[in-house]
Amino acid sequence: MIPYGRQDIDASDVQAVIRQLTSDYLTQGPTVPAFEQAVATRCKTKHAVAVTNATAALHIACLALGLGPGDRLWTSPISFVASANCGLYCGAQVDFVDIDPASYNMCPKALEAKLVAAEMNGTLPKIVVAVHMAGQSCDMASISVLAKKYGFAVIEDASHAIGGLHDGEPIGCGRHSDITVFSFHPVKIITTGEGGMALTRCAETAHRMRLLRSHGITRDEDKMTEVSHGLWHYQQISLGFNYRMTDLQAALGLSQLTRIDAFLEKRRRLADRYNLVLQTNKLPIICPWQHPGTLSSWHLYIIQINGLLASATRREVFDHLRNDGILVNVHYIPIHTQPWYQRLGFKKGDFPVAEAYYTQAISLPLHTQLTDTQQDQVIHSLERALQA
Ligand SMILES: *Cc1c(COP(=O)(O)O)cnc(C)c1O
Repeated sequence: MIPYGRQDIDASDVQAVIRQLTSDYLTQGPTVPAFEQAVATRCKTKHAVAVTNATAALHIACLALGLGPGDRLWTSPISFVASANCGLYCGAQVDFVDIDPASYNMCPKALEAKLVAAEMNGTLPKIVVAVHMAGQSCDMASISVLAKKYGFAVIEDASHAIGGLHDGEPIGCGRHSDITVFSFHPVKIITTGEGGMALTRCAETAHRMRLLRSHGITRDEDKMTEVSHGLWHYQQISLGFNYRMTDLQAALGLSQLTRIDAFLEKRRRLADRYNLVLQTNKLPIICPWQHPGTLSSWHLYIIQINGLLASATRREVFDHLRNDGILVNVHYIPIHTQPWYQRLGFKKGDFPVAEAYYTQAISLPLHTQLTDTQQDQVIHSLERALQA
């Protein structure tokens, strides 16, 4: 079996967790802030808030930016449901912007057209969640120009994209957004088991997210409404959650972060190899297009079965690969076609570019432990599927 994604845990990772297990702290202690600082430094930003997973990070990011009932959040239909659900958690209305057919990211032109209409109708969004699909940055410069013009905040859902670059700067630096979110789920670039992080340049936003991560409780006397009763005193000043990351997870994360450049290099080499072989073989497929101003972290290698040229359907190619023990996947079923969102009034046909992409997409195996031999197996199985 060749999985589409897989974590990479070595002896140094195991040692880091064992050391943590026998230390004074299992839940949030000194290792969580050390991990936060290491990620913030690497991404060239000021503040990072580690939480239980990226879904929680998206939730507190929306709340910290003031999203609530009566507000609107827009995102891409080609993402994991969490990119949209964070808006619903806050009682906001969710809507989508269709994707660019080349990058599979939110299309800035479609965004602008929708903003022009929304301004006339008084339905402008408060937040736009830009998803860096497969690890390639959205066109953040264009999105941030629109953000200033139309007055919305931007969250980058960079769950796929830690280690990626945009205009030579690390994704997460926050030049074009308010908050950037990473996921440390085992299939992503680095892992903490479950885990996520929200990065920002803004001290006040970071402070709000830290409160929301832990019940809305503060021990900082400057934030309290009365003089402290003593060292035991705390006050709940907002309605937060228990979204704290543990020191066990942070220890794994810190160790994984020391290995991230090797992970990225391996993923980029494998992606180059897929590109080279698949393009020279002239298969009826579309390989992932890369904007010259971006460097992807290559979370996913997505091909499209060209429906006009291929004799086999996506379903047939998918089943053929699965029967050969190759655990391909599909990213993603358009969110607006999920039953929950259909109940909210979305219909098939609402976002045609996303829907057309979905009918043709397959994610091929791509992870750090994929060998050249296994990659050749994937390629040969794909060739046979398309010859059938
Ligand atoms: C994985 C993922 C999430 C959710 O991450 P968790 O850490 O599992 O909560 C959100 N958005 C995107 C785009 C993802 O790929």
